[in-house]
Amino acid sequence: MSTNTHLTGGCHCGAVRYECAGEPVISATCHCTDCARISGAAGASAVAVARDTVTVTGEVSWYASPGDSGKMVNRGFCPRCGTRLFGKPDLAPDLMSISLLSLDDPSAVRPQMNLYTKSAAPWAASDTALTSFEGMPPMPLE
Ligand SMILES: [Zn+2]
Ligand SMILES: [Zn+2]
Repeated sequence: MSTNTHLTGGCHCGAVRYECAGEPVISATCHCTDCARISGAAGASAVAVARDTVTVTGEVSWYASPGDSGKMVNRGFCPRCGTRLFGKPDLAPDLMSISLLSLDDPSAVRPQMNLYTKSAAPWAASDTALTSFEGMPPMPLE
């Protein structure tokens, strides 16, 4: 992916800000029913980065629910405005996902693939030029 990306962003109200000193590991738009309901969008686009490269300022509220694997997925929100910002899957404890649309420059990272297309709402428009998986791609994500 692109080099020397310095990702910054935050929630809608500005109470939570973050920056990432690391490089994007992988990016995807997820159409699973959990992401759809929680994000309120037909596809939740996120970029995964190394967890220890992200610096967060402000209070984040975490919500944990089991993913398809049975392992927990922790999703981070701004407790004030409700913006969904982060994901910390127990399946990949070194990685953290950041909502692409919370970036100050949403064009900085493009989704590379579609996930869980089997669960997409029938009217959802997805970028068919991307590689699509009915569920998760083969693991591990490298
Ligand atoms: Zn906020
Ligand atoms: Zn999902």
